[in-house]
Amino acid sequence: MREAYDVTVEEDAASSATVGEASSGVVLLGKYRLKELLGVGAFAKVYHATNVSTGQSVAIKALSKREVFRGGLMEHVEREISIMRRLHHPHTLKLFEVLASKSKIYFVLELAKGGELFDKVAQGRFSEDLSRRYFHQLISAVRYCHSAGVFHRDLKLDNLLIDENMDLKVSDFGLSALKDHVRPDGLLHTVCGTPAYVAPEMLAKKGYEGAKVDVWSCGVILFVLAAGYLPFNDHNLAAMYWKICRGQFRFPRWTSPELRRFLSRLLDKNPETRITVDEIIRDPWFSKGYREVRVQHKEFESDHEQSRHRGLNAFDLISFSSGLDMSGLFTDSGSSDCVERIVSGGKPANIMEKVEGVAKAEGVIVRKEANGEGAKLEGQRGNIMIRIGIYRLTDKLVVVEAKRRERRAGNGKGTKFWEDKLNPELQRLVYKAGDQK
Ligand code: ATP
Ligand code: MG
Repeated sequence: MREAYDVTVEEDAASSATVGEASSGVVLLGKYRLKELLGVGAFAKVYHATNVSTGQSVAIKALSKREVFRGGLMEHVEREISIMRRLHHPHTLKLFEVLASKSKIYFVLELAKGGELFDKVAQGRFSEDLSRRYFHQLISAVRYCHSAGVFHRDLKLDNLLIDENMDLKVSDFGLSALKDHVRPDGLLHTVCGTPAYVAPEMLAKKGYEGAKVDVWSCGVILFVLAAGYLPFNDHNLAAMYWKICRGQFRFPRWTSPELRRFLSRLLDKNPETRITVDEIIRDPWFSKGYREVRVQHKEFESDHEQSRHRGLNAFDLISFSSGLDMSGLFTDSGSSDCVERIVSGGKPANIMEKVEGVAKAEGVIVRKEANGEGAKLEGQRGNIMIRIGIYRLTDKLVVVEAKRRERRAGNGKGTKFWEDKLNPELQRLVYKAGDQK
């Protein structure tokens, strides 16, 4: 199962003549220099990288577009990303930008220099005070995101990272839709990760509320911090489910009565009576030393603005950060070919048909590539050599790439065919902002 979601940045890098085999040192999209691999998740690889122009360290999460396009996921992803980009809280990991190449989508994220909280707990359970400190930060982030209408739905220790000050950074907030699609069967999840954090109502597949499910997962996290092990665990998956559904767990003997009471409220198997995030704030165990983190909501927009963003389309996603400067989206081969790229909202088959039409009218031979992603146009005396590539950028947009090789620079027949015939036709296909709105 895991292999199906395996994503490599190297694949893209391999198409570039300027880089070697290893991903380290590769400059991604002319902007980020990749360093070491930080971790591998169920459907993505995460790399440490530096911004070439500013030197800023970031984390880059790379996932394959093929996965994302399966099942029309793009719309969901766009919406979630548009929300996620508006989340600004000291304890949620920032998403700086989203980039795309021919086959990958890259999430450029704030780097959590301290690694995973899991590694710290693995060295030994936390005191109640230290558990509380991290739990304060977690709830502060969760409360903020919930108030923005964003639910995590996959809170677990793996998604709790630590920065250089040993403060918490919750990752993957807002990316749940992505995961739903990549792993459409909720239980598939269990193949890759652990169901240990999943709320009973989710397992029962009865329908659930994002807020309540997050509270349950927070309960599991708090238990692990304070106890050093999972509340619901069994090497037999069915037995684990059974324990979760019955809400059956035992406190370690060192747990204080206040924490016991609090955990029972968090790990209440009935979502109706389970403690809410607002009640958590008032709980006696929790409230000790809690200071509300003041977050400016300036990034949140008016309803009007929000509804505009709800209709965010694939074009917006790609243009968020890189604009329509397509040169930034591709790692070029550095060859001397002339390359022209346009973004089109047309269907690949129709675009190919247009290209064929122009070529045939001029007596140019068209050799289509088997994968349907490209064609070679050849003049009868070898005086025209153009390769047309059509790559999906998003579910609605494609990049049409024309690479020309000419025997006599500047004024050959190929140039004429290109300038007078083919290019004008391609220009008619160029996507204009607003085409799809
Ligand atoms: P899932 O696929 O369910 O999200 P996961 O959280 O383990 O599982 P990823 O989110 O892909 O998978 O992350 C993989 C690993 O990469 C993380 O466990 C973490 O160790 C590391 N990582 C992810 N994001 C960052 C980041 N911003 N800074 C530092 N390390 C990170
Ligand atoms: Mg994650």
